[in-house]
Amino acid sequence: MTNVFTRLLCALALTVVSGVASANLLEEIKARGTLVVGVKDATPPFGYIDAGSRTIVGYDVDFATAIAKGLGVELRLIPVTTATRVPELAQGKIDLIVATMTHTKQRARQIDFSHTYFLTGQKLLVRKDAGVTSIDQLARKRVSSVRGSTSEQNIRRAVPGVRVISFNDYPNALLALAQSKVVAMTTDEIILMDLHRRSPNPDDFVLLDQAISSEPYGIGVRKGETELLNEVNRILLDLEKSGEAEKIFKKWFGPNTDTPLKRNFKIGPAKL
Ligand code: GLU
Repeated sequence: MTNVFTRLLCALALTVVSGVASANLLEEIKARGTLVVGVKDATPPFGYIDAGSRTIVGYDVDFATAIAKGLGVELRLIPVTTATRVPELAQGKIDLIVATMTHTKQRARQIDFSHTYFLTGQKLLVRKDAGVTSIDQLARKRVSSVRGSTSEQNIRRAVPGVRVISFNDYPNALLALAQSKVVAMTTDEIILMDLHRRSPNPDDFVLLDQAISSEPYGIGVRKGETELLNEVNRILLDLEKSGEAEKIFKKWFGPNTDTPLKRNFKIGPAKL
């Protein structure tokens, strides 16, 4: 009796599990009517809380908005950090990661990435009073960065012997620099440019010219969700073709912004 019952229960559980496993996330998003996207909320100008509206805005948020529109659904944003974004995607708490995330071969073993929708490179912001003019002078010196970032790994590779002090977000990594707890801070150039400009004492720091890596940003999708990945890529390519992607770029990095940049990429497959 118990055996039959147990077998029945097992069969039922299997049906439920396989039903869930075979459900396609794209269809689920459309049925639900909402796309849930993980974005940064302390990394301007990609994702940060706008002082006026108290909502999260930024380059990444505009891409998340365009993708929700392209799918014909509402958008819900969930703040993530560099370290939490992949686990949150894996656990199904978010459908996509649009959060300053570099597409790397190593990360692509865990999750899938869309086409590149932003391109930057890693640099260092150093304290002027530390007298550091090139990155090899950082051996045995303290450098701040963020937990789980490519920046944290790349700097160790670029400067053997460097002492990396990791924080949960970039504002705290900058604070450590401002308080002389470290002599330099490292991450993607565009993030450093913005933090430098916003810091209360920008004259204390200088951005070194030397770039130590190329950082192509991709949108993170759970492995196996090919339909969703294809749709995200189709929407991204449409945004490029229609000029909308360039418009978003100009809004955040155009000549009239605080972080003027040249658009040295077009949306397309990542060059790793
Ligand atoms: N783009 C780098 C990364 O994905 C640094 C920025 C971040 O922490 O998100 O790790």
